[in-house]
Amino acid sequence: MGKDEDRDDQIPSRPSVYNSGDGEEVELCPALWSVCQRRVELGRRACASLLFAVPPLWACTPTGVEQRRVEDALLAEDGLRAVYYLQRAHQRGWRVRDAEEALQQWVRYFHADPSAERPLGLTFHSDRLFRERHLHFLGGILDGTRALPSEFLSLEASQTWIAYWVAHALDVLGRPLTAAEAQGIIKLCRASQSEHGGYGGGPGHVAHAAATYAAVSALCIAGTVDRGAHQVTQRGALTRWMKCDLALADGGGGRFRVSLNGEIDVRAVYCVLATASLLGVLDDDLCRGCVAFIDSLRSFDGAFGGEPLTESHGGYTYCAVASLRILRDAEWLTAAEFAALVAPARDWLTRRQLRFEGGFQGRTHKLVDSCYSFWLAAAARLCDAPFREPQLAHYILRYCQDVEHGGLRDKPHVPADLYHTCYALSGLSLTQSTNTEATLRPVHPAYNLTYDTLHANPFFSKPI
Ligand SMILES: [Zn+2]
Repeated sequence: MGKDEDRDDQIPSRPSVYNSGDGEEVELCPALWSVCQRRVELGRRACASLLFAVPPLWACTPTGVEQRRVEDALLAEDGLRAVYYLQRAHQRGWRVRDAEEALQQWVRYFHADPSAERPLGLTFHSDRLFRERHLHFLGGILDGTRALPSEFLSLEASQTWIAYWVAHALDVLGRPLTAAEAQGIIKLCRASQSEHGGYGGGPGHVAHAAATYAAVSALCIAGTVDRGAHQVTQRGALTRWMKCDLALADGGGGRFRVSLNGEIDVRAVYCVLATASLLGVLDDDLCRGCVAFIDSLRSFDGAFGGEPLTESHGGYTYCAVASLRILRDAEWLTAAEFAALVAPARDWLTRRQLRFEGGFQGRTHKLVDSCYSFWLAAAARLCDAPFREPQLAHYILRYCQDVEHGGLRDKPHVPADLYHTCYALSGLSLTQSTNTEATLRPVHPAYNLTYDTLHANPFFSKPI
């Protein structure tokens, strides 16, 4: 114990400010200081060799990005990761193996000591959905009362997407659009519709399959409060555009471009099928050949790439599986044929949920990302592939919410954005068979619209 006492002498009594080494003085956050104290205490009790393997003045070193990482990990109630970042900050030469061994010691220690359930002595926000903050984050955009910041200029060609992300996120949260918000969507879509059929990403843009899917989906949501939204789309012109400009004339059908002379991939197939289904114009000409094209995208691991002979990808696999579901509902496939086509992808889908984080990665060996909470979980739901709902909800609620400003993010350390807010909430909605805390509106996994919105759409008559 004598050694420990020596070290105690070197722990600053209250290192609220420390020098980062380049002259900058940084205030140590109270949470971090709490960890420092707790760490010393725990080290004295059980982990002395681990804890005091680092310099005694460790509490005064982490700076800038490192401190931010520690704080974020603490906010996410991820004590082990916080300790890892602390350790790494203090021993730059630390090997990965050292970190793993240290973490394992901590795991064993906490595992053996039930009283250490809250080892870092902090207050956490737990698995709570910050609904009001997210509503605030999403408010004022559709009705134009809040100007989006200038960095949104880069999304000028994605305005119909922004309308969909915001409207759908509000719908999932259970907040009906106001009349002004519905009018905002109608006005934007009217201005973005091409006279040749289809929608561009904004006024003046070339019609694009993805922008059209987004516009039609946003109009469906607007239509729940303003029936005029259902009359905006020129359905005849849109159908001709899909058949003449997007469908490839050769090869037996089933292949579409995303725009005139654009790429040919499974996104185009999905956007065409989903749009046509939502507008009640899905017919044999559009469906013919799609099953064969989708089957040609299958990779060696059973899931789907965007084009033949490409790597399996969560977004493309979603487009493939959801397209097959739409084709099944349109009776181009029997239930047995559908099941046989999607069965090889089931194992790949289940394995994309990471054990430690609980969220999904989009591709093998990639980082977890909250938008795949929808793309992967929805594809898994459609394929009847198992995934761990509570762990997914845990990842979204604890790691992806900006609890201060509202909105959800891809992962810790990045800012919240509208796209991830939409898809993280959609994914969270899919966890509700076991996670009853969130109480979000359920979404249809093949369309990513709420069932309420689909029921209110006069053109949509598929069994849901
Ligand atoms: Zn993402």
